[in-house]
Amino acid sequence: MSFDIVVIGAGPAGLCFVRSLAGSGLRIALVERQEAAALVAPADDGREIAITHHSQRLIRELALWGRLREEEIGTLRDAMVLDGDDRDGLMFRHDEAGKPQLGWLLPNHAIRRAAYAEVMTLPEVERITGARVGSIRTGVDGAEVGLDNGGTLRAQLVVAADSRFSETRRAMGIAAGMHDFGKTMLVLRMQHDVPHEQVAWEWFGVGQTLALLPLHDPHTSSVVLTLRPQAMQALLALDDAALEAAMAERFQQRLGTMRVAGPRCAYPLVGVYAKRFVAERFALIGDAAVGMHPVTAHGFNFGLLGQATLARELRAASNVGRPIWSPALLQRYEREHRLATRPLYLATQMLAGLYTDDRRPARVLRKLALGAGARLGPFKRLVMSGLTADGGGVPAPLRLLRRGSA
Ligand SMILES: Cc1cc2nc3c(=O)[nH]c(=O)nc-3n(C[C@H](O)[C@H](O)[C@H](O)COP(=O)(O)OP(=O)(O)OC[C@H]3O[C@@H](n4cnc5c(N)ncnc54)[C@H](O)[C@@H]3O)c2cc1C
Repeated sequence: MSFDIVVIGAGPAGLCFVRSLAGSGLRIALVERQEAAALVAPADDGREIAITHHSQRLIRELALWGRLREEEIGTLRDAMVLDGDDRDGLMFRHDEAGKPQLGWLLPNHAIRRAAYAEVMTLPEVERITGARVGSIRTGVDGAEVGLDNGGTLRAQLVVAADSRFSETRRAMGIAAGMHDFGKTMLVLRMQHDVPHEQVAWEWFGVGQTLALLPLHDPHTSSVVLTLRPQAMQALLALDDAALEAAMAERFQQRLGTMRVAGPRCAYPLVGVYAKRFVAERFALIGDAAVGMHPVTAHGFNFGLLGQATLARELRAASNVGRPIWSPALLQRYEREHRLATRPLYLATQMLAGLYTDDRRPARVLRKLALGAGARLGPFKRLVMSGLTADGGGVPAPLRLLRRGSA
């Protein structure tokens, strides 16, 4: 079978990319190893995705927003960063950003469900589910993707969105810088007595990092806990009552009684940055290109940004009959997405290292950093403009960081 583009991976990035090309006239094959039923009604994976104003605009443009249920949309009004036993942390307030809220929280499985429902309406897309990509070959004459069910797909261009551990990236000989933080992150929906007031918390403690993500219901949040794998195993072995007591204690009873209200989902923390995003007739998007540590909540935001950049280039080429696989086009995508993501990727690695290091110098340094942040208006404005900027292209803080590093 022949197509213009083969997209590998129907995760949020692959699905949004396919939806972005709707009506472009390009014929697309979308290959996913999961069965169709798992894409129509994805399992709850516990992840609540914090999205920026720019991402919300893209999600609306892709017609996904209208497919989300009211109770799935959480308001991220303000955010608070706490260190150790601090009672008052560094606050990031929506009114200082001149916006009604800093961002939104959406369940990852709801984003996947909405995106797949949209893709199902597109006649130009052939959905090949329950099939795993086993081989890939690209050359001057075209690209070929081999499936484990024996099928072969031919295309002008292959776009891989097959996760941060992308097998296709490896098969194409593209190296990636990987950093294993040696920590496990638990995400768990919990109900609590004290209302969250739509404020997200990031709380750096000794031996643990906690976060609280406010959901639609004022007494329900997604609780995020980062621990060493052994400590996490012990916690996951507890029954619900013991886990609830343990979490209330970790939150120093600040939320009152806490009750489990969702599945326990644990993720190993590994950051990944591909050395190249493109090769001959080939491009990486989503986590396969940039797999962020979740602490700065930017993985999917970058995934959305990157797919939009590539889709815009492909549409422009297709409209005027230029080749969609031209090296110049692919390099423009690579350049723009690298500039948009690299500074925050590096800053996130540094931040994650500093805030999960319990040795004394790191503890002193982060106290100083938070104290300085609280006093410095420009620092806070910089962080907030990244969340609330709704223009396209490179977020404002990254432009400033780039200028600074230059
Ligand atoms: C705990 C946690 C919290 C997070 N919070 C945030 C947040 O607040 N904000 C934010 O922006 N981001 C956040 N993220 C990041 C976000 O979840 C990811 O960036 C996003 O899900 C990546 O989407 P993707 O489509 O690139 O990859 P994936 O979701 O990994 O999808 C890849 C798809 O490819 C398929 N696949 C893989 N290999 C093959 C193959 N060989 N053949 C066929 N199919 C294949 C897989 O089955 C899968 O469906 C968080 C991540 C975690 C773990």
